[in-house]
Amino acid sequence: MANDNQNKDEHSLSIVIADDVKLTRVMVNASLHQAGYRDVRLASGPDEMLQLIKERPADVALIDWIMPKMNGLELSAHLRQLDDDSNHYTSIIMLTSKEGIEHMIEAFAHGVDDYLNKPFNEQELAARVHAAGRISMLQNSLLVTLSELEASNQILSEMAITDPLTGLGNRRYITQRFEAILSEINSRGGMLAFMMLDIDHFKQINDQYGHDAGDEVLKKIAGRLRKATRPTDVTGRLGGEEFCILMQFADANHSSPELFERILKSISHKPFNIGNHQILVTVSIGISTYQQNSDECSMEMLFKSADEKLYEAKMAGRNRVAY
Ligand code: GH3
Ligand code: MG
Ligand code: MG
Repeated sequence: MANDNQNKDEHSLSIVIADDVKLTRVMVNASLHQAGYRDVRLASGPDEMLQLIKERPADVALIDWIMPKMNGLELSAHLRQLDDDSNHYTSIIMLTSKEGIEHMIEAFAHGVDDYLNKPFNEQELAARVHAAGRISMLQNSLLVTLSELEASNQILSEMAITDPLTGLGNRRYITQRFEAILSEINSRGGMLAFMMLDIDHFKQINDQYGHDAGDEVLKKIAGRLRKATRPTDVTGRLGGEEFCILMQFADANHSSPELFERILKSISHKPFNIGNHQILVTVSIGISTYQQNSDECSMEMLFKSADEKLYEAKMAGRNRVAY
């Protein structure tokens, strides 16, 4: 992606000067204009500089040390805070009559990027502003790259746990949440119900209406399951025509056969409109449960026993819940 910061013409650098002495402001401004800089703003003190930078960020800030109300060190701390808030980097040059190495060291320790004594040499000022502009452009292009990288990482990690067809969590997501919920129950109590759902005779739906229609059915089933569950339930697609729901209950009494039947009915109660067809679909559901203090139990065991129950539901005639 093109990066504005890298392509910016050096003389379009945005510079702000804060100095309480008007003569200094005028002289610095004149020197910078002489050196070809066109975007120079003047502030008579810290508050005005902060205001100007809030209105529009600067690439380079030239700040005086001794000013009324807030000194240059405090001002540079405020500038760094503004930078943090707006994901921007301002290169700060302390321009001061304070001489001596100890002051220079103190200023650097407070986060300024460069230090220059007054009275200044015009060419040296221009050279240092040039270098400061280079630093801020590099820093800012790095910040842009970092936030682009963060955004793509975010998308990648969402993709890694999402089933692309239905938008539900995939098997990886389910296992992550499963482990988390199990350890929550072990430490805080409560109960978990793990429901495995498998579409009945799905192969026939594909054979009769086509694979695309089958895909539509999978999407619509995902939609009905989303509606039939609470926001805290975890609904996912384990693969193929198999879905699952993880339900966590604060108390074992809160779970009920009616609740499970309701999920079953949410699929079978009316046909799906797919193209010109009305397709009635049923599912079979197998459920395993876990409570705190029940015997040592792993996610694998809960998967296995839900799968066995699902098989029982199929064998008993499909379109039913077994637990
Ligand atoms: P049962 O009631 O015993 O579960 O019968 P079934 O036909 O649903 O089960 P079977 O395992 O024989 O067939 C599952 C079918 O699901 C076969 C496969 O082509 C289909 N299938 C799996 N994944 C997808 C998918 O992503 N899209 C579509 N359209 N079909 C899929
Ligand atoms: Mg199956
Ligand atoms: Mg099936």
